[in-house]
Amino acid sequence: MRHIAIVGSGPAGYYTAEAAVKKWGEDVRVDVFDRLPVPYGLIRTGVAPDHQSIKGVSRRYEKVALAGNVRFVGNVSAGDDVTVAELQQFYDAVIFATGAPEDRKLGMEGDDLANVYGSAAFVGWYNGHPHFANLDPDFSGRHAVVIGMGNVALDVARILSKTDEEFAGSDIVAHALDLLRGSRLETITILGRRGPQQIMMTPKELGELMHLRRASPHVDKSDLPPEGDDAILEPGLRKSVTLLRDFAAIPQSIHGETPISIEFDFFASPRAIHGVDGHVRSIEVERTTVEAGRAIGTGETYELPADLVVSCIGYRSSPVEGVPFDERAGRFANDEGRILPGLYCVGWAKRGPSGTIGTNRPDGYGVIDLVDADIGLGSRKRGREGFDELAEARRLDIVTFRDWQKIEEAEEAAAREGAPREKFVDIESMIAARRP
Ligand code: NAP
Repeated sequence: MRHIAIVGSGPAGYYTAEAAVKKWGEDVRVDVFDRLPVPYGLIRTGVAPDHQSIKGVSRRYEKVALAGNVRFVGNVSAGDDVTVAELQQFYDAVIFATGAPEDRKLGMEGDDLANVYGSAAFVGWYNGHPHFANLDPDFSGRHAVVIGMGNVALDVARILSKTDEEFAGSDIVAHALDLLRGSRLETITILGRRGPQQIMMTPKELGELMHLRRASPHVDKSDLPPEGDDAILEPGLRKSVTLLRDFAAIPQSIHGETPISIEFDFFASPRAIHGVDGHVRSIEVERTTVEAGRAIGTGETYELPADLVVSCIGYRSSPVEGVPFDERAGRFANDEGRILPGLYCVGWAKRGPSGTIGTNRPDGYGVIDLVDADIGLGSRKRGREGFDELAEARRLDIVTFRDWQKIEEAEEAAAREGAPREKFVDIESMIAARRP
């Protein structure tokens, strides 16, 4: 018998559990831990609430969770409620699938002003993550600045632009919908320190900006390189750049019809954020040129009005006591997924925050191949029996998958019309909802 602990119940965690069951069948016991009482990680609190088709992958994870030899152990934080050394006593392999839940910091003057947020916090807020439910952003100003040109920046710009009707069918949480309803934003500037050919936005997501009811995307023609230059780009990026060219061709009359303008500001690197009475008011930006793919400051600076700033410049993993961490890269120190004997990582915790949800599937299968090579037939460790004893002695309040199903039923029952669910946004309500 092999005893496997997976820490984190997001895509990386459940693809790894799936791979373990496929590889070893009945000869494995898998415990999937999560510090929250609810599963699915980024699917629940990262993927945008209006991207329900992507969230649908949770049905696949549910199948894995319901396999007889897989268990969800919610509301238990590895490193706090139970140490990594303790987990290693019980399990042949402990696999960190904890993602990258922290913001990469902007690290500049003014980044701590009120109404300046990192995307982990801001996305967590509109998705009902209990750690960020009380964020309370202020949408009474006219100008928002979103920093970064990746898909998260697109998610944020789109959520800031949508009308109530456009959120129909989404699971955006009520507190976010209420505040966004009163938004007075007129411009959303997306700042990219490099140019149109260096964006990280993918075409499907970028194309959605064309279909917003009250916002339209604006690209300055003069920022675009000659069309012939696109030929060398890989096909996805070429499509995205073609969309930027389409945005640049939108006639002024269309812009006049939409009250919100989404402005793409390329070759624009943020330098400092300025405020009045502790609240953000503007952002200082330096013009750049791109040389050999790198942004080089030109020394020319300008000030953009900003009543709200959301920085979408990437994420970092959270270190765990006793697990080697690569501070510079912001993830666990690992060699292709191996951290130390018996200790592994997978997904964003292993390779950093890039790729799609699906990228985690080969990652999960890969780490199980490593574990298989390392542990062979397994050992005589006690697995979940040993953990359960410790949990009882420590009075840990474990949330099971059956409990989660009750929480889910309660969320579905509370959904506003047309929405799939209304999420609980605090841990106490989640825990209370599992009781009949
Ligand atoms: P990302 O794709 O890596 O984009 C980060 C952006 O931030 C880049 O434009 C980067 O510019 C910029 N940036 C980094 N440091 C900066 C700084 N100090 N100042 C200014 N700009 C800075 O990251 P992400 O948007 O957080 O997305 C993470 C992953 O999740 C990606 O793989 C993404 O595709 C995926 N995702 C997918 C979806 C979807 O498929 N619908 C939705 C959301 C996220 P440089 O390129 O110049 O470094």
